[in-house]
Amino acid sequence: MSEAATAEAKLEVKQASKEVKESENVAEKYSAMTVSKNSEMNMGELSSVFSAVATHKPVKKQITFVEDKQEFSRFPTKAGRRSLSRSISQSSTDSYSSAASYTDSSDDETSPRDKTQVNSKGSSDFCVKNIKQAEFGRREIEIAEQDMTALISLRKRAQSEKPLAGAKIVGCTHITAQTAVLIETLAALGAQCRWTACNIYSTQNEVAAALSETGVAVFAWKGESEDDFWWCIDRCVNTEGWQPNMILDDGGDLTHWMYKKYPNVFKKIRGIVEESVTGVHRLYQLSKAGKLCVPAMNVNDSVTKQKFDNLYCCRESILDGLKRTTDVMFGGKQVVVCGYGEVGKGCCAALKALGSIVYVTEIDPICALQACMDGFRVVKLNEVIRQVDIIITCTGNKNVVTRDQLDRMKNGAIVCNMGHSNTEIDVASLRTPELTWERVRSQVDHVIWPDGKRVILLAEGRLLNLSCSTVPTFVLSITATTQALALIELYNAPEGRYKKDVYLLPKKMDEYVASLHLTTFDAHLTELSDEQAKYLGLNKNGPFKPNYYRY
Ligand code: NAD
Repeated sequence: MSEAATAEAKLEVKQASKEVKESENVAEKYSAMTVSKNSEMNMGELSSVFSAVATHKPVKKQITFVEDKQEFSRFPTKAGRRSLSRSISQSSTDSYSSAASYTDSSDDETSPRDKTQVNSKGSSDFCVKNIKQAEFGRREIEIAEQDMTALISLRKRAQSEKPLAGAKIVGCTHITAQTAVLIETLAALGAQCRWTACNIYSTQNEVAAALSETGVAVFAWKGESEDDFWWCIDRCVNTEGWQPNMILDDGGDLTHWMYKKYPNVFKKIRGIVEESVTGVHRLYQLSKAGKLCVPAMNVNDSVTKQKFDNLYCCRESILDGLKRTTDVMFGGKQVVVCGYGEVGKGCCAALKALGSIVYVTEIDPICALQACMDGFRVVKLNEVIRQVDIIITCTGNKNVVTRDQLDRMKNGAIVCNMGHSNTEIDVASLRTPELTWERVRSQVDHVIWPDGKRVILLAEGRLLNLSCSTVPTFVLSITATTQALALIELYNAPEGRYKKDVYLLPKKMDEYVASLHLTTFDAHLTELSDEQAKYLGLNKNGPFKPNYYRY
């Protein structure tokens, strides 16, 4: 090791131990907390968790992007000089908690902007596809509530205290039944909400109608145009006699709009809660440039959300996505999964459980060794490319499957991506005159070689699960609970607790979100004895792990 490298390594160790000490100090401050056993935490306690945490410096997270740097300085004009399709798809692919809509496109071609609609209370402060679908949407919301018990229990617990009384939340997320449960929880806790969609395709029209019927000002429908998208955002923010004081964003478009178009309103915002990788990245950029004038909470990187989005969600949705598109039987199929990170581990586990023969490719010896320990053959893609039935990419990398490899796949091989947007498979290389593309079903293409060989390409190399399946409600419940808690904290925090910077959700809150969800399974946590707590140097009520712990 060179001298410089040794010095760097020493510095890293020093920094790591500093982080431990800091987190221990924070742990000390939680001593009055009672969370774990029955997930009981009132709003006062919740606030105390955060006040302890707020002594921490905002956590800067290094996020590297393969491509696509978005900045707040690039302000979209009405003519859409910043390509909205890019913005929209980026938001939708970065937010893994997005759910596909079940809503069919309606026969009614009239733009909702050209319709006058009134809900049963006489209000017309909304713009949705068809307010008459409200009853159907209500049933969708009720189904979602069944698997979002943590959020419902938070709603019940905090309802009397109304921790969001006076909060005026403007939200820009996917508008689905699960989001509706979140919005109605925020309303039950005292907030007034105006909502718009972060994605032009994902709105469940009937859910938007149900929310509008109960008085939430929703401006969203499935199949918005670029102009509609920004119009809806503007209608949410710019309304007479109502000024937002909190933002809940997914992708950063709403934040961006307010920052640029309504700087005076933006400055008075008490806090931003951001869910997506892109949105968080944009906030960090703004903060780095010294332009962030509002405290923000990065919920994307909380441990529970990450685990559920990456590992557990993909473990389920890989099968769902493949089944819906191809009706494939998994038993006995030879599958290669590229990348054995969180997403890859989920995919491998699911496929193995159904009797597939699973190969793994990896560049990282640690992940490769993990794959070996889990019973998978670690190979180079070229070693198995001719024999595998299914190829799944989960690396976050680009050109993991090249044209040359696509040429060598066997007839009928299924190719799909669960990783980074649409960079992992070199789909562009397939758009050449000698290959024929045949659309078989929605999101399913046969790419046909001159000799008749067909490769089945799913979602044109975009994320399979986001394009072709739905995200389990329970996963969305984790995110929604995290978002609700972050909003409560930012709104109630005394002045000065949060600076104009980006904060990670403290581990203690992550643990709280998890504990709220444990009740679904009637899971019983073991409590540390005083002696054990002392022995481990932990507070009996958590946090139970240092910040650097890898779950
Ligand atoms: P990760 O970093 O834990 O895992 C990626 C793995 O791929 C790493 O172990 C890395 O060593 C390996 N890798 C990189 N290049 C490779 C290559 N050329 N060949 C083989 N292996 C390679 O990341 P993750 O959490 O598993 O996420 C992976 C990707 O999936 C990211 O782009 C992430 O944004 C995306 N993601 C998708 C979903 C979804 O719902 N589909 C959910 C969460 C994350």
